[in-house]
Amino acid sequence: MSSYHRCAKCNSDQMIDGAYIASAQASRIVVGVERHPDRGRITRSVSTQVHVAVCGSCGYVELWANRPAELLEAYQRASRPGSEASRAATP
Ligand SMILES: [Zn+2]
Repeated sequence: MSSYHRCAKCNSDQMIDGAYIASAQASRIVVGVERHPDRGRITRSVSTQVHVAVCGSCGYVELWANRPAELLEAYQRASRPGSEASRAATP
């Protein structure tokens, strides 16, 4: 989380930390990985909720994954092409 106290767009220090983004149905947003661009489908997809900060000056919204290490681990463990898990993963 690099620009936690400064807006990445306008450099304002008026950041609103801990805001939320919700769909029209009011469900909170998550970010997840389910496929690797080269290796195909990830056997066990992983998702995490996101942390939101809003710039009170220009309105720029930042999203941060709460548990990025879990996403990265799943991404790096994606099956190799041709393995059982990557078959039928082509859109
Ligand atoms: Zn800003």
